[in-house]
Amino acid sequence: MGNPVWLGRRPLRVRLTAWFVLLLGLGLLLFSGFLYVQLKLSLFTQLDATLKLTASYANNHLDQQQARPAFGRIQNLTRYLNQGNFAARLLTPTGSVWAGLGHYRSVPIWVPAAAGYKTLPADETVWRIYSQPIQSADHFGRGQRLGWLQIAQSLDPVRAAEAKFLQQVFFSLPLVLLVAGWGGWFLANQALRPIDRITRTAQAVGTRDFSQRIGYQGPADEVGRLATTFDQMLDRIQAAFERERRFTADVSHELRTPLAVIKGQIGVALAQHYDPCDYKHTLQGIEQGVDRLIRLTNDLLFLTRLDQGRIQRPMELLNFSQLLDAVVEQVQILTKFKRVHLIVEIAPDLRVSGNPDHLIRLFLNLLDNAVKYTPAGQVRVQAGRQGTEVCTVIQDTGLGISPEHLPHLFKRFYRVERARDRRTGGAGLGLALAYEITRLHNGRLSVHSELNRGTRFTVHLPTEA
Ligand code: ADP
Repeated sequence: MGNPVWLGRRPLRVRLTAWFVLLLGLGLLLFSGFLYVQLKLSLFTQLDATLKLTASYANNHLDQQQARPAFGRIQNLTRYLNQGNFAARLLTPTGSVWAGLGHYRSVPIWVPAAAGYKTLPADETVWRIYSQPIQSADHFGRGQRLGWLQIAQSLDPVRAAEAKFLQQVFFSLPLVLLVAGWGGWFLANQALRPIDRITRTAQAVGTRDFSQRIGYQGPADEVGRLATTFDQMLDRIQAAFERERRFTADVSHELRTPLAVIKGQIGVALAQHYDPCDYKHTLQGIEQGVDRLIRLTNDLLFLTRLDQGRIQRPMELLNFSQLLDAVVEQVQILTKFKRVHLIVEIAPDLRVSGNPDHLIRLFLNLLDNAVKYTPAGQVRVQAGRQGTEVCTVIQDTGLGISPEHLPHLFKRFYRVERARDRRTGGAGLGLALAYEITRLHNGRLSVHSELNRGTRFTVHLPTEA
């Protein structure tokens, strides 16, 4: 429902109260109107019944022995009529009065066509008249109409009762509306107070400070849900903001180290007179640093694209056994320089739907880690079908990971021991990438590890079916 122009710009609590008072006022007016009509009807019904009863009482007092009818036993009748402020009269068919009792002279003359009621205004009051025919009794029980018996009563008491009712309504209505308006204002204030708090909290949330919360303590109604949702939204924004900040700090830190190394190498080379062999050696060092930077930026680009949903779930049907064999072959070269024995047990013709590049990246990361963190020992690669999935286990007998690190292992830039990694040179993105790639393929990646005993990574990927 739209608001009237004068309400359009007012605060919500004013509009709510105004609508409440307006609708309540309208409702009360309609209800009072209904009561008024009911009261009027009931008063008239009551009055008409009394007039009819009185007419039958007066009829019993009629003396029809004479040529023209007259009231008999007048004392009794007069007492009865006076008690109820009635007027009674006997009328000829032409409208002349034969006889009358009470204030019958003030009642205007009116000759009815048939028995019934009539409301007639006079100078000072309005009369309600009941007319009843006077019949002459003949031998056959049929009578001839001689004239009319009329009983009248002033409508003043009815009018007074109506006026009193209206007066009470018109005096009490503003009072009721005033109390209702105050109540409405109070309730609107109560209901809108948390919204004010939400507004203040939203205003207090700065570009860097997301620590403010509404902390609503109350029933879980619409406003309660709004406040809770707002707090949850702030929680999410704060978490995202913290993640972003950590991520940016980690990225800059990871970029700074190789860049500093490269700059140092270039500085040294420029400052000295090298022979070509030394230059070649320096350039090789720089190349390694650049390679590391390229790897890092590629990884970051891939993660960012994943976050933005720009990398869709790949649906190419692959011979997974061949793919894994190729990865193992690449890693085999690394083991040549270490005392690491690689055991490979890959079932033939395993099928998986996915993206070969992403899957190679995933298993290269896991196998590379297994070899990297196993100074001496063995690395076992097993792959086989398990129901509707292909399960790959990469198990090493290397350094292992202590339990407190395991929950954070798949987070970006998370490294177990910085000193250990600086030596081996990882940025802490390998497992985060592995985790995201598995998720992209609707698979699962889990880890089990014991310090100084070894680590087992298990990858479940759905098969083609
Ligand atoms: P990084 O590039 O530093 O290896 P990852 O994300 O691949 O980063 O691994 C995160 C951390 O998990 C590493 O710093 C390493 O300490 C630990 N880690 C990963 N794989 C193994 C493993 N097979 N054995 C022991 N530690 C591991």
